[in-house]
Amino acid sequence: MNDHIEEPYLLTPGPLTTSRATKAAMLRDWGSWDDDFNQVTADIRTQLLAMAEAPSDEYACVPMQGSGTFAVESALACATDPSGKVLVLMNGAYGKRAAQLLATMGRAYTTLDKGDYRPPQADEVAARLQQDPAITSVFLVHCETSSGILNPLDAIADVVRTQGKTLIVDAMSSFGGIPISLAQTPIDVLVSSANKCIEGVPGFGFVIIRQALLEAGKGRAHSLSLDLHAQWEYMERTGQWRFTPPTHTVVAFQAALAQHREEGGVPGRCARYTRNRDALVKGMRALGFSTLLEDEWLSPIITTFLSPTDPAFEFHSFYAALKARGFLIYPGKLTEVESFRIGCIGQLGTTVIAQLLNAIQDVLADMDVSLIADLSSPSGSA
Ligand SMILES: *Cc1c(COP(=O)(O)O)cnc(C)c1O
Repeated sequence: MNDHIEEPYLLTPGPLTTSRATKAAMLRDWGSWDDDFNQVTADIRTQLLAMAEAPSDEYACVPMQGSGTFAVESALACATDPSGKVLVLMNGAYGKRAAQLLATMGRAYTTLDKGDYRPPQADEVAARLQQDPAITSVFLVHCETSSGILNPLDAIADVVRTQGKTLIVDAMSSFGGIPISLAQTPIDVLVSSANKCIEGVPGFGFVIIRQALLEAGKGRAHSLSLDLHAQWEYMERTGQWRFTPPTHTVVAFQAALAQHREEGGVPGRCARYTRNRDALVKGMRALGFSTLLEDEWLSPIITTFLSPTDPAFEFHSFYAALKARGFLIYPGKLTEVESFRIGCIGQLGTTVIAQLLNAIQDVLADMDVSLIADLSSPSGSA
């Protein structure tokens, strides 16, 4: 069990295991209109722009209440031209969700669907943009959390920029844990949330967006509450959120940001997540498991493992037995093969990964699962 708090470790992509300091920050109530709270809001907006290495005279950071999807929805509504067309790059659930959001708000889109886990490639994106000049924006999921693949952001960003289109990146599960520099990579809109690599608790997301695009987004929103431009305008004018903010989540996020800095910022956090991932993948392979992806595509965020083919293996019993030992893992999200996922993010290190591997070994022995058959099966190729 998670020593000091007697609750299981969350080996999930968020909500995840947060620190005691982050939880403790929530033991106070704040007035949402009060200056003290407004300063917290202003501070996190500034810190997020700095983390993204976004020139503050070119970009704005706009927080939005709700889960990550609310922020993606508000960003798509504001940053895409209602008379334009969006190319949605898809290789998993979150690319699909973006298309669903666009369909719901009645915006034109087309997709490049690579199935469950193959990466969209820059040359394919270039070809699509050339074929279809009506496309005005491209949507890319950086780390597609459904498989754990890290998509080739830099190469795609270059192509999108060269062709003069707008790039919208869902960096939900990567921002803060994997270096992204808006000063170096031409990204127009980046969306992430409080409860992933920055290790806050759930309650809001945020959009880092080119100011010119934000200004052009006035009046485009299909929704009153998810109007990013209106949120920004109100926040700039009053220092407050437009409707009730998740006050406790916001102050917990400020505490989480301080710990992120102490850990060495994005490089420090990326190094710990990478150590977790390496220990996890090495240990699981030693037990006989295969990863869905080849090493080159593995993110340090979450890894998909193929379920053992032994009929004695059953995910729900495996999950429950690991939960009883203090570890919550994550079900698979692939359509073609049985799989499960284990996250590497949150307040945990290689000691916890080693404990998890021991628990997995014990549980497999209890379930009488033999992994011998899997030892010879190759990793799927991306
Ligand atoms: C978590 C996540 C989201 C947002 O999901 P919510 O459940 O709305 O918080 C979006 N995209 C990716 C890639 C994610 O990992």
